[in-house]
Amino acid sequence: MSLPTLFPGATLGVMGGGQLGRMFVHAAQRMGYFTAVLDPDAASPAGLVSHHHIQTGYLDPEGLARLAECSAAVTTEFENVPAPALAALALQRPVAPGAEAVAIAQDRAREKAHFVRCGVPCAPYAVIETPEQLAAVPDELLPGILKTARLGYDGKGQQRVATRAELAAAWAGLKGVPCVLEKRLPLAAECSVIVARGWDGAMVHFPPQLNLHRDGILAVTQVHEGNLPKVLVQRSIDATKSIANGLQYVGVLCVEFFVLEDGSLVVNEMAPRPHNSGHYTQDACDVSQFELQVRALAGLPLTPPRQHSPAIMLNLLGDLWFASTAQDAATEPPWARVLALPGTHLHLYGKHEARRGRKMGHLNITGASAAQVRATALEAAQLLGLEAF
Ligand code: ATP
Ligand code: MG
Repeated sequence: MSLPTLFPGATLGVMGGGQLGRMFVHAAQRMGYFTAVLDPDAASPAGLVSHHHIQTGYLDPEGLARLAECSAAVTTEFENVPAPALAALALQRPVAPGAEAVAIAQDRAREKAHFVRCGVPCAPYAVIETPEQLAAVPDELLPGILKTARLGYDGKGQQRVATRAELAAAWAGLKGVPCVLEKRLPLAAECSVIVARGWDGAMVHFPPQLNLHRDGILAVTQVHEGNLPKVLVQRSIDATKSIANGLQYVGVLCVEFFVLEDGSLVVNEMAPRPHNSGHYTQDACDVSQFELQVRALAGLPLTPPRQHSPAIMLNLLGDLWFASTAQDAATEPPWARVLALPGTHLHLYGKHEARRGRKMGHLNITGASAAQVRATALEAAQLLGLEAF
């Protein structure tokens, strides 16, 4: 499918008003587009900075009609946007990524089946939707991780289980919703690859990101020459491209991988949107993941991004606001001291209230060499009260 190019001056719509939507809006506006955001929250990070903010539920027919009316094309910024809403919008406007690709990414069982179809290995798993399927789970999958098939993020909806009894209890605790049991694998590292694919099938990619998670949430991303063995760099890029091609995907897609202790690469999951692990592209690359999302949606050329600086991204969770005191009162982290370090770029999402575990912003660190970036990032982490890495 191809689309007539939407030139600056057109209005680009986005489903969801979180931080990813906000950074999409910023990128679109920088290029001269108008923007429309649909999000029920009056204080949503993207709604606050968009030309239009349609403040309704994601399935509200009137809200969807208004979004379609004012937007020339629509994208999405969060994974759990209801696929039927995207399907409804697609009757009136180009929508990228499409409802089908988003629906597959929303469902771990369908997602894994897609990976297998594309010939990309994932962790051994079993789908558990019925007591019979629970009983039939092979022993080799234990110890494992039970994950809800839908609506999981940042490690939510997941439970580690070592025995059949624990598995049964965990599934009962999740009220018997459809789940996937994954074998727990010995991880040496985690990485991700972001691609952008256009309406015409043209595709560009960023270099693989090395990711460190803490408590199921991304904490640190490191991107520089040598962050991963060369063979894994190529393999992860190839795998991501075949996953995107297999979906006939249009837009920005992130695929997350595990690197196992034996050096093999296993796909974990995908996100049908820009990704937290790609935030370093804003300051370290000549075109960011958000600009590529704009270009893909608008049908503009996708130029291969060039990373001009080694980079580290530190995620800034709400916990930082409570780091210096034992009390409940939030205090602002020491930004002035952090920003005194060369090559630090602060991104905050305009969320009014800091809460533990809430993504408040990120700090990108760029520099002349990987060693220098690392030294600065460790200094910044120490100032912020973050664990070293
Ligand atoms: P998000 O969408 O924020 O990435 P999520 O809730 O979808 O998180 P997963 O990516 O499935 O969760 O898992 C979160 C983390 O748990 C992984 O990044 C990894 O560190 C660990 N993990 C998940 N599955 C496995 C596995 N099969 N073996 C070992 N570790 C795992
Ligand atoms: Mg994940």
